[in-house]
Amino acid sequence: MDSNPRPLRCAVIGAGMAGILSAIKLTEAGLTDFTVYEKADRVGGTWRDNTYPGLSCDVPSHLYSYSFALSPEWSRHFSPGPEIRRYFEKVAEEHGVIQHVRFGDAVIRCTFADGRWVVETAAGHRDHVDVVIAATGVLHHPKHPDIEGIDTFRGAVFHSARWDHQATIDGARLGIIGTGSTAVQIVSAVVDRVAALSLFQRTAQWVMPQENPEYTDQERADLREQPEQLAATYQRLSDMFDLFANAVVDTSSAEIKFIQQACLANLENNVHDPVLRERLRPDYQAACKRLIISPDFYAAIQQPNAELVTDRIRRIEPAGLRTEDGRLHELDVLVLATGFKADSFMRPMDVIGRRGKSLEQAWDPRPEAYLSISIPEFPNFFMLNGPNGPIGNFSLIEVAELQFGYIMQLIERIRSGECRHVSARTAALVEFERAREKASQHTVWVTGCQSWYLDDRGIPAGWPWSFIRFRDEMKQPDPSAYEFA
Ligand code: NAP
Repeated sequence: MDSNPRPLRCAVIGAGMAGILSAIKLTEAGLTDFTVYEKADRVGGTWRDNTYPGLSCDVPSHLYSYSFALSPEWSRHFSPGPEIRRYFEKVAEEHGVIQHVRFGDAVIRCTFADGRWVVETAAGHRDHVDVVIAATGVLHHPKHPDIEGIDTFRGAVFHSARWDHQATIDGARLGIIGTGSTAVQIVSAVVDRVAALSLFQRTAQWVMPQENPEYTDQERADLREQPEQLAATYQRLSDMFDLFANAVVDTSSAEIKFIQQACLANLENNVHDPVLRERLRPDYQAACKRLIISPDFYAAIQQPNAELVTDRIRRIEPAGLRTEDGRLHELDVLVLATGFKADSFMRPMDVIGRRGKSLEQAWDPRPEAYLSISIPEFPNFFMLNGPNGPIGNFSLIEVAELQFGYIMQLIERIRSGECRHVSARTAALVEFERAREKASQHTVWVTGCQSWYLDDRGIPAGWPWSFIRFRDEMKQPDPSAYEFA
């Protein structure tokens, strides 16, 4: 690096997992002139927004951690959501992130003008920066179902990511629409609390049984005393998830067959009523939709007060939900566990790049970014967990760390004075997308199911290669893929 590096001012958008990471890594690199913009009043992103009962992470806690801030203190193999939120808050506090965060003010526009970015917030604040890092998350815009009469419901109705804690669940007749990872966690957590639970299933899911034992005090003490053991656990889990990542991108792999068999055995052995078993049996390959990880969903849905409803929803009425068979399912509370708009990313924020090109234009008809990080004509604007990167049952923390290491190398080129601006070349993006589309045809995501992984053409909006290849790509940028101005 130049002995007189150019001073750079940066903006990080979002104080969730990836924003906290960015703040820590910028500081480590000596780039301390930055602000993290956060629309809410605390850090934590998805772990702040989601507060539903049963919230947890189905990636093991010792992997779902920053590699530089491993914790020996996790309570369980898959720790509950509030514990994960506290982890992020603690890391942010301990690494001095909080002092950089501007809370309670959303970025509404970023405009590239006169060689820098002008960041504007809802409160009218303006910031001129050299580099923008969009760490705005993937699944954060709730998708509400378009069901007739939803506004007429007399009871409480809310999306899973906007849980209404004023609504009484205990002793209530609870309806849940959806059978994704979220709904399954809610069902297991509340079935013993409610008078009656109706789960409205449109598509059956494969469920991988995975126990979730607590760590003993002794195990925690051992990890506290042996940090090398903690690091080894992280590495072991990371290697294990590499195998999973390899499996889902190769439908003929032995691992994907193992996953299918484990899910099938779970269904056959743990759902006792043959009629219910058939209604819970998916008609597509396991892991085509995001795999559900749950040790107790089948037990929960077989409780006497639980009902799996597979008739299509006709409409919502003041007293409940009416299905196509004409039956009214009377409800007190209705939870919409209907997922997220997965293609929004930092939108509805306006982003205007070089020559007045808007993000809406760049992303018409769909979001694209070279290696999911950089968009042509949007110089010095980088994304973490952007479009078409690794998604699925992995640790997005590991993904973001690898991406940040790569982005930092591009930032260093700007700081060293080697260039003022860097963005991906259009040709590199076109070639990346062509190869990605081709490789997607070998993945399990295209084997005959609908999911949020698929774009408007039915092509998976994800990384279709192995995780090892992702690691390799993230080692260092290929200069020929970038325009250095
Ligand atoms: P999701 O996987 O998108 O599932 C949405 C569910 O709602 C699906 O069952 C869908 O049915 C159903 N649905 C949507 N609109 C409907 C309608 N109009 N009528 C009837 N059913 C409707 O959403 P999610 O469960 O919130 O999970 C989203 C993602 O968040 C996950 O895939 C995962 O990546 C992440 N997540 C992770 C964890 C974790 O532990 N790490 C936990 C929760 C969520 P169809 O299947 O028929 O479309």
